[in-house]
Amino acid sequence: MKSVKIISLGGFGQVTNNMFVYETEKDILIVDCGIGFPTEEMRGVDLLIPDISYLASKKEKIRGFIISHGHYDHIGALPYVLPQLGKLPVFGSKWALALAKEKLSEFGFGANFQEISEGKKLFLGDFQVEFIQVTHSIPETMHLVISTPIGIFYHAADFKLDLTPVMGKPTDQNLISQVGKRGVFCLASDCLRAERPGFTPPESKLQDMFEREIKTCSGRFFVTAMSSDISRFKQAIEVSQKHKRKVVLVGRSVEKNIELALKLSYLKFPQNLFLLIKEAKRFPSSSLTLLVAGSQGQIGSALEKIVAGEHEIKIEKGDKIVFSTDYIPGNEVAIYTLIDEIMRQGGEVSYPDVTSDIHVSGHGSSSDLKKLIEMIKPKFLLPIGGNFRHMVAYKKLAQGLGFEENKIILPDNGQIIKFFEDGKVDLSEVVEVKTIMVDALGVGDVGNVVLRDRKILSQEGIVVAIIVLDQATFELVGEPEIVTRGFVYVKESERLLKEAKVEIKKVLAKWRTRRREFRFVLGDLQEHLEKFFFQKTGRRPLILTQVIKV
Ligand SMILES: [Zn+2]
Repeated sequence: MKSVKIISLGGFGQVTNNMFVYETEKDILIVDCGIGFPTEEMRGVDLLIPDISYLASKKEKIRGFIISHGHYDHIGALPYVLPQLGKLPVFGSKWALALAKEKLSEFGFGANFQEISEGKKLFLGDFQVEFIQVTHSIPETMHLVISTPIGIFYHAADFKLDLTPVMGKPTDQNLISQVGKRGVFCLASDCLRAERPGFTPPESKLQDMFEREIKTCSGRFFVTAMSSDISRFKQAIEVSQKHKRKVVLVGRSVEKNIELALKLSYLKFPQNLFLLIKEAKRFPSSSLTLLVAGSQGQIGSALEKIVAGEHEIKIEKGDKIVFSTDYIPGNEVAIYTLIDEIMRQGGEVSYPDVTSDIHVSGHGSSSDLKKLIEMIKPKFLLPIGGNFRHMVAYKKLAQGLGFEENKIILPDNGQIIKFFEDGKVDLSEVVEVKTIMVDALGVGDVGNVVLRDRKILSQEGIVVAIIVLDQATFELVGEPEIVTRGFVYVKESERLLKEAKVEIKKVLAKWRTRRREFRFVLGDLQEHLEKFFFQKTGRRPLILTQVIKV
């Protein structure tokens, strides 16, 4: 009997790391290829990518990649995955492909990119794919209507139903309803905000907020948001223009995104509206808006450096910083520390806890999600792009619409969903989906990290630095202790270890004024010691830093 399988190679129950496989007897279609973000205990890991071992023996079946939109959790793994799977076409909207091209060019290669748009139809083996443009927090987000031998699968990656989008056109709900009338077998839908009541407010609602915030700002007006959120920046620029402020782009990711949007005419502003940082110094504070990268408090981002005093821009009295962003879970402490520090330095801060209208999500709430279900009227529902609790909330709202429990599929990580044309579903097949971590040394899974440590230990030895810190002041208590094994002959290396201790003190001195978190201090110490020992000895021992808080 004919069947279609769906597998998530980034794992079901994940918000990021999006990569879905649609598979028939003959063909495979891949939807999205995104990165995930490491959790706190994965120290030294830069990012996560989907596990493509399932595809290793099926390469000749793959007909191509379709990218739903340009967010990094949907395109960011292309540079790691694409080269392993051969020369495959990558389909996406103009803006999604522009960002994917940028990402790939950082790695020094290109790909067979093919632009699609609403109304276009692709024929890829057993699959025919049509596109519906929807609204989200990035331009030209697409929903996929995938016709298969057993029926239509509607792949609704991230979206909300914004009736007044700041960029692009509103979602054509007629078009979606027409697909619904053709009969849809399964709707795979965004579920991230299924817990929230009502509709998600439109992006354009932020214009009033920017207007209000800029009016009460006597100094420089800083706006930080997700760097990919071009419509958010568009509104901030428009309000600035109206209030006769020039705009300065600060931070690589913000510069890159806005410059690309200007180049491709997604944004249309006169060139003389923008100033370089050094030009801005000649202008009074009250005539400047700064769009700054680093809304999540990321270490090394422009905003973090400004606050830490390591940037040519410093916080001054009268400055206002608007955090037009959500806190990504796990980043709260970093963001709050940043906000505290800005206030200590005399800046004013508007952030979601005190100003609830400062951010709107790009994801639909329960009413958006229900509306899509009602338009599509699918046989089966598959919540994606959320954690398990979001999937459960989605299930509840679908049950409220009369869906039977066995028609709403909540798969576990690694489970393969096999749909048959007679409407039966088989969930018994399981594939191992591992967490693939990427760090400066390359790509590996958890097992490889252990092996790498062993290899370093055997060839380069180990250095353990034990540091006792006063947890209130970050002051060193006593001298740091350094123990080595298999690295240098201690008796002849007293000077080296003494210098290493000085190095530790230097790093700690830097953090004293920053009042940051211990985990960041730990990472920073590790990095400095690695560099230090490599410069001095040409070797890279395994370095463990142990901080004892007293
Ligand atoms: Zn997205």
